[in-house]
Amino acid sequence: MNYSKIIAQQRAFFSSNQTKDIQFRIAQLKKLKYLLQENEQAFYQAIYSDFKKSAFETYTAEMSFIYDEIDTAIKKLPKWAKKKRTKTNLVNLPARSYTLPEPLGVSLVMGAWNYPFQLSLVPVVTAIAAGNTVILKPSEIPSQTSQIMASIINKNFPVAFLYVVEGGIPETTQLLEQKFDKIFFTGSTAVGKIIYKAAAKNLTPVTLELGGKSPALIMKDAHIKETAKRIVWAKFLNAGQTCIAPDYLLVEESIKDTLLEALTEQIKVNDYRFDQENYVQIINAKNFDRLEKLIDNNKVYIGGESDAKSRYIAPTILSEVQFEDPIMQDEIFGPILPVISFNNLTKIIQKIKERPKPLSLYVFTKNKTIKNRILHEISFGGGAINDAVMHITNPYLAFGGVGDSGMGSYHGEAGFRDFSHYKSILEKPFGFEPNFKYPPYSKSKLTWIKRIMGS
Ligand code: NAD
Repeated sequence: MNYSKIIAQQRAFFSSNQTKDIQFRIAQLKKLKYLLQENEQAFYQAIYSDFKKSAFETYTAEMSFIYDEIDTAIKKLPKWAKKKRTKTNLVNLPARSYTLPEPLGVSLVMGAWNYPFQLSLVPVVTAIAAGNTVILKPSEIPSQTSQIMASIINKNFPVAFLYVVEGGIPETTQLLEQKFDKIFFTGSTAVGKIIYKAAAKNLTPVTLELGGKSPALIMKDAHIKETAKRIVWAKFLNAGQTCIAPDYLLVEESIKDTLLEALTEQIKVNDYRFDQENYVQIINAKNFDRLEKLIDNNKVYIGGESDAKSRYIAPTILSEVQFEDPIMQDEIFGPILPVISFNNLTKIIQKIKERPKPLSLYVFTKNKTIKNRILHEISFGGGAINDAVMHITNPYLAFGGVGDSGMGSYHGEAGFRDFSHYKSILEKPFGFEPNFKYPPYSKSKLTWIKRIMGS
């Protein structure tokens, strides 16, 4: 496919200034929402055939996010896109100062497979809201899902404004040879580095929404039953294939056994079976094999069963885990939950700090001092106190990583800012021009300047 031709078309369209019109953006967002709602059943079917994700989970963890993002953007766009007045310093008076958001131009959005609609379309919504044109490259792994996005979008939007390119590594590599004004990538840290390098050639700004091992700390004063309920839901949602799922638990030794029992009880209550539509498959054989190898039978507390044919791995808890174990080396991204116990909080904080900065961190405690210590001492993308995963559902909270877990953030206004450049403008009237800044310089001019500048 000739990507340079598509990009040239998008550049020309962007240059026509049509995307700068707020009403144009709102109309496109309304159209996108209409198309998604019209085809919602087809979206459910596509994702079910890719990895048995139920309509319930597809709606709650995918479609509702997109609708919400569209509705918020439509409502808030006029305010977000307005110039924002700021103070003017004495030396420039009389004048007005403000920042003016402008779209970056032709953007490239690349999605991951685990929430294939949401991770592709929320950034697309954001890019449109900010006035950009968009090329979307969804993950090739859930093929039905990628196909349906391409067919619906490419049939209904002009190529010059919004276009879906389907494909995997070769197509992405070719796309990355082109010059974009913005690249938004969701995926692994390893591929994130490839994207960042390719973008650097053209000094293209990037947002990298990456992964990593997100810890959950459970302190002895936590409400055990509720903690177990929230953790089990967050971990086994999408069969653990969630970037912000608690990757591993750090539990105070004195409550370890009680917590393990409560987690086991909750797993039973949640009835994780495909035929009940409470559970999803592992996305493909490659990931199934990788995950199966991570199950150390000597450490299985509950679960451990698997079936290659249906790509099923039971919710599994590993106990007596050490930081040196294979399961603790890379992001798990599947339904296996290692539990490490500890007695010394200072040492455990240090252990987390020695590892790459996580995308999320969770702490379960009623103790304010402990909560504040963790929030202040450990760097991580975002997280929750006494909950897990749910912070992503609040559009008023920016979502993104730090260090190895990414850069930049989105959702709500944060996304609008991410796809915009803010021009800083000083606007002066005619009619008043003191002479002291102009040559020829003199001692008295210097005295004046010092007085005005306050130094
Ligand atoms: P991935 O990095 O393998 O793939 C992501 C995208 O990159 C896909 O579109 C794929 O086609 C493309 N790609 C893959 N290899 C490439 C290469 N060598 N060169 C160029 N492009 C390439 O990630 P994934 O397996 O789809 O998703 C899992 C990862 O994504 C996990 O690490 C997870 O934590 C992370 N993730 C992060 C977030 C977030 O919001 N921070 C959300 C979901 C997933």
